[in-house]
Amino acid sequence: MKKQLEQFAAEHTLSRNGNDMYGSYNGYQVSIRWGGWSSASFYVGFHVNLGNKMNEVVNWLNVAQKKQLRIANVTIDGSGFYCIFTNMTLGSSLKKAHEVLYAVTEYLKMQGIPGDVCPYCGQPLEEKKLVEDNYCLFYAHEACFNSKLSQVEGVESAEASMPNNYLRGFLGALIGGIVGMLIFWGLFQLGFLASISSLIGAVVGSLLYTKFGGKNNKMKIVIIAIVVFVLTAAAFFLCYLQVVSDAMAQAGVYGSALEMLGYLLETDQEIRAAFWGDFAMSIIFTVVGIVVVAMSMVRQQKKVSSGMKKHS
Ligand SMILES: [Zn+2]
Repeated sequence: MKKQLEQFAAEHTLSRNGNDMYGSYNGYQVSIRWGGWSSASFYVGFHVNLGNKMNEVVNWLNVAQKKQLRIANVTIDGSGFYCIFTNMTLGSSLKKAHEVLYAVTEYLKMQGIPGDVCPYCGQPLEEKKLVEDNYCLFYAHEACFNSKLSQVEGVESAEASMPNNYLRGFLGALIGGIVGMLIFWGLFQLGFLASISSLIGAVVGSLLYTKFGGKNNKMKIVIIAIVVFVLTAAAFFLCYLQVVSDAMAQAGVYGSALEMLGYLLETDQEIRAAFWGDFAMSIIFTVVGIVVVAMSMVRQQKKVSSGMKKHS
């Protein structure tokens, strides 16, 4: 793995920064970022100032090149743009990175977009500083970097001081949890233990939590995880109660389904084993679903300023 990266860096005159790479290729500042094996995405960054050619370049990428170069997504920020594709094997990702690097820099050259200017302001780089933005390294004016950083920090601290409505956020999480419950119930009727109910419940809960005025912070993740977990467990018990209640009605037995379920769990070993087996499976599915959604929420909560840093 290390050898592949080293070879790629040497061939493209790039420097290495851990698993990432940066430097000048074909006259343009570029970077390559991938999160190792844990990341599904591979980023090829072009740190250029597109000026008034921005729309043209973005159109070219989205309309003409996305299919050709098999790019999944193109994102733009104040210091250039990124071509993102799915990270398969390192070898095939690097091969694709090379194609993207070459095609895009050739196009930028044809468009007459300068490669030796500050990505932020588009002015010549007489005094340059190695900076890190969006976790990618490139050279820029120190003042331009400082001004973006203070702007970003201003927005972030304004967000942090915004009012937070836990109660309404909680209601949003509750509705998501109920959606998950209904899916659990529906699939149970069809004879399945619902593996996706908590996932959908947590996704819906997360969307509504924010929509209803809850702030996107750690507490949000905790609230959604607890609500979805408790409601899925409740859905499981309600489904079993219904099974018992239906069986009692069929057999012409009157009384409380809850008491009957308790009685059966105590006296019937077969039912007890099936019940707790199903319960354990449901809990595992639920936890997996919640963890998947929580991980994506943590990613979303990453601050822009945490990806910005000055290097010497
Ligand atoms: Zn500048």
